[in-house]
Amino acid sequence: MNQQQPKYQPSDEVDFVIVGSGAAGGVIAKELSAAGFRIVVLEQGPYLKEEDFAHDELKNVYQEALTNNHRQQPNTFRSRPSQKARLQPAVGYGRVVGGGTVHFTGNYWRFHEIDFIERSRLGAIAGTGFADWPITYQELEPYYTKVEWEVGVSGQAGANPFDPPRSRAYPVPPLPIKSSGVLLERAARKLGLHAAPAPMAILSKPHNGRNGCVHCGFCEYYGCEIGAKSSTLASVIRVAEASGRCEIRPLSYVRKIEVDKKGRAVGVIYFDDKKQEILQRARAVVVCANGAETPRLLLMSKSNRFPQGLANSSGLVGRYLMFNAGGFAGGVFEQPLNEFKSVVVSRIVHDFYDTDPKRGFYGGGGIDFRFDLQPITFAFLGLPPNAPQWGRDYKAMLKEYYTRTVYMLAHTTSLPVATNSITLDDQVKDAWGLPALRVTYKDHPDDIKIAKFMLARGLDLLNAAGARKTWSYPVGEQSFAVHLLGTCRMGNDPRYSVINRDHRAHDVPNLFICDGSSFVTSGRGQPTCTIQALAFRAADRITQLARAGEI
Ligand SMILES: Cc1cc2nc3c(=O)[nH]c(=O)nc-3n(C[C@H](O)[C@H](O)[C@H](O)COP(=O)(O)OP(=O)(O)OC[C@H]3O[C@@H](n4cnc5c(N)ncnc54)[C@H](O)[C@@H]3O)c2cc1C
Ligand code: SF4
Repeated sequence: MNQQQPKYQPSDEVDFVIVGSGAAGGVIAKELSAAGFRIVVLEQGPYLKEEDFAHDELKNVYQEALTNNHRQQPNTFRSRPSQKARLQPAVGYGRVVGGGTVHFTGNYWRFHEIDFIERSRLGAIAGTGFADWPITYQELEPYYTKVEWEVGVSGQAGANPFDPPRSRAYPVPPLPIKSSGVLLERAARKLGLHAAPAPMAILSKPHNGRNGCVHCGFCEYYGCEIGAKSSTLASVIRVAEASGRCEIRPLSYVRKIEVDKKGRAVGVIYFDDKKQEILQRARAVVVCANGAETPRLLLMSKSNRFPQGLANSSGLVGRYLMFNAGGFAGGVFEQPLNEFKSVVVSRIVHDFYDTDPKRGFYGGGGIDFRFDLQPITFAFLGLPPNAPQWGRDYKAMLKEYYTRTVYMLAHTTSLPVATNSITLDDQVKDAWGLPALRVTYKDHPDDIKIAKFMLARGLDLLNAAGARKTWSYPVGEQSFAVHLLGTCRMGNDPRYSVINRDHRAHDVPNLFICDGSSFVTSGRGQPTCTIQALAFRAADRITQLARAGEI
């Protein structure tokens, strides 16, 4: 924790209180503190440092060391609103200072121009809230560039023929190609497709005073011990703290946004590490708690004035939840590939990004080759479905396959369906006595169709790469997700959206919301680069409004 951090009193009316320090919250904290505002960031998770991170698979993957703890904060799930929800983990996100950016994989694709205007191009899709965004790619482009330079993204401008236009090259070159990348390039060439260097939120070289990656191989699910992964913790949060105006307050779990009689936010009530309730006063509130916890907090903030939850006059808080879908396959090769080294992904294929009406359904996506299973998880899940599960043959197969396997992951669209939602479960409480997060989700039929289509393309690529044997995992309806999108969607019309194009809640003039919940459509996976571009833009707009006295 930086010594330059101020220590505000809860009774101090700071300019902004920000809920959540993840992908969006970290960026907004940096931007608003740099603009001269006094900021308190309340983060429910702990403040860990690089020396706290470890290559401990049990702790990270199985004991939720960096992610939401489902015993303390249970979820419930059902696929239809008419069903009784059952207790099960349904959402996964980073629960530390830095949020999901601490342990994520770091794939940082920009959205394409089409992602913002698909409804106009393709028309309505029955049974969905498919809509255009109130902003365009052109408006967001300068902020994508800020993400790449200030947060730190490796990549090669112009290498991917499907990339949208950009105003500036990446700050550092792509990460070195892995065996899986060489295989994907080879396969794509054979099939007339295009493999390109993957843009990654991981520094290939030192940048902004931070280290380049040393390819330790414990990347997805782990915090980076040398700060090369571009979490908000390693990048923008430090800058926010160095401003001397931003206090990051960890172990602070916000349970309610408090409003006055006029319907303006006056601050937030949170539990501190001793479960004592504290009101932090602020002139305005910015909620960046992610696509699951943001709507939960708004719904928990109901009052006499806002009986269906705060900012919810449209009834859309929590609705249009989108997960992104996908397909997953494996291939084993003759020679050792030693994919367990380094980062997870080095090449991607975007030939199937756009919706093609000839396919007869909506959707598109991207494909990568990867390896992201550490030894214990590989032993449980890494072998083909018909592999032995015990004894000498199992051991021999693990030994052979661990160094020779590559996985294909296809990342695809999800349509916004109103019944797919986050709501409060009044039957199940968390360890603080708050209602559990209830997920209702059933993939739209087109989401399943595009996932199957992309799985087939991925298997073509694994075969063209020369895999000795390939296998796939069935595409089914999802009941757990880490991409949490769309639950407080942006829009110009308050009847059909929760926030406006400046991320201001339509119903509460000094409440702003920015994170995965702001999305109108899902994109093709890898939402976080766009979440952060939105956050840079939102901070610009909030600064302009505050300086003009319009908040
Ligand atoms: C294993 C894994 C791999 C991933 N890989 C990729 C990838 O390669 N590319 C990609 O684009 N995305 C990836 N993601 C998804 C990515 O992590 C999320 O899209 C991103 O972090 C969401 O950003 P956000 O700002 O919406 O919320 P978050 O980053 O989740 O931040 C929200 C923060 O708010 C805090 N919070 C929530 N509620 C409260 C409360 N009531 N009080 C106080 N604090 C609160 C949370 O603890 C958290 O720190 C991955 C996720 C996982 C789990
Ligand atoms: S692979 Fe690189 S970025 Fe990932 S955790 Fe290791 S050193 Fe950090």
